[in-house]
Amino acid sequence: MPVNLDGETLAKIADILDAKSDLDALSYVLKNPQLNFRIISIDSEHVQSDTLKLTEIGVTVLDVATLQPHQDGSRQTTIESFVEHMYPMNFLICENGHLFNNVVIESDPQGFRFGWSRWIARNEVSTVLTELINKTDHPDAPEVCPVVLLSHDADKLHDLLVDAEIDISNISHVVRTLHTEEMAKSPQHYPWRGSRDIDLTSLILENDMKPLGKEKPMGEDYLHNSGNNAALTMLCAASMIDDCKDRFGSDLTRTEERELNHGLVDSLILSTFNNKAMTKIGHDVYCIRCNAAGDHFEHECIPEQNPVSCEHCKKRGERPETIGNHDTHRCLRLYQDISPFEEDDCDDR
Ligand SMILES: [Zn+2]
Ligand SMILES: [Zn+2]
Repeated sequence: MPVNLDGETLAKIADILDAKSDLDALSYVLKNPQLNFRIISIDSEHVQSDTLKLTEIGVTVLDVATLQPHQDGSRQTTIESFVEHMYPMNFLICENGHLFNNVVIESDPQGFRFGWSRWIARNEVSTVLTELINKTDHPDAPEVCPVVLLSHDADKLHDLLVDAEIDISNISHVVRTLHTEEMAKSPQHYPWRGSRDIDLTSLILENDMKPLGKEKPMGEDYLHNSGNNAALTMLCAASMIDDCKDRFGSDLTRTEERELNHGLVDSLILSTFNNKAMTKIGHDVYCIRCNAAGDHFEHECIPEQNPVSCEHCKKRGERPETIGNHDTHRCLRLYQDISPFEEDDCDDR
């Protein structure tokens, strides 16, 4: 049964975790289910321009107490158990949904494979994160549970929290941030890398965590969706914990092991596809052409029914069809005028 935690206990937990490496801290979190830790893995995508506009935020939540229990009450910290109990979510930002990267890195906002995406307003990012940090759905859980924020890269998480105006130093139950980039530096993993940073794509490939593509070969594109990245970051973290190692026995060849790993990630896609999101904020359906919420997507938008027009293009004397294609605040030309960036960086749609 989870224990109730006052401020003093939370501070003690934070001190214990502070004294540990990222990998040991995660191990502690997983080995103390009675403390009811909630792990929240976060990743984000931005459009490549000097303004770094946020286009997506991916979140995967795992309440440690919900992991499959062993007979002695400890939890199975295997990847299978993670797969079954984690909640992957992806949030697309309404205001920036028309902005795409297509140079070097290609945006893949519709490529979330672990559930349904939700559309939220830019100013709801903070509300969504705060809601996930503050509540737990586990029936036996105390009102406040200690939260560990997980990301691949410390700077990216820091910048996102600053951007969302969330100051975790003021939230006493956020007891630690953990980063898979740091965990991967631990000598028992990838020793040939030394202290060099590993990027998330390499870590996922190293762990055979890239799902098998059924309808198209999975290229790098797959990993440019923040929801996929947050889910796979959580699985990579799990794979670096002792219990998860050699889970298929040591008799397997590398190829056989690889196939089993891929199958596991595929099963995650299947098992979570129908999961409902853990928040009611935002909309499942949203049109980035006419801003209608809850009715249709851009490709279903009927111009005669949903007329839009751009004042900026009108002033520039553009052709009427161009003016009627988009709303002024979706105008990529206006965006470029405010924030100069390479024309090729954005699809003008
Ligand atoms: Zn529309
Ligand atoms: Zn325009």
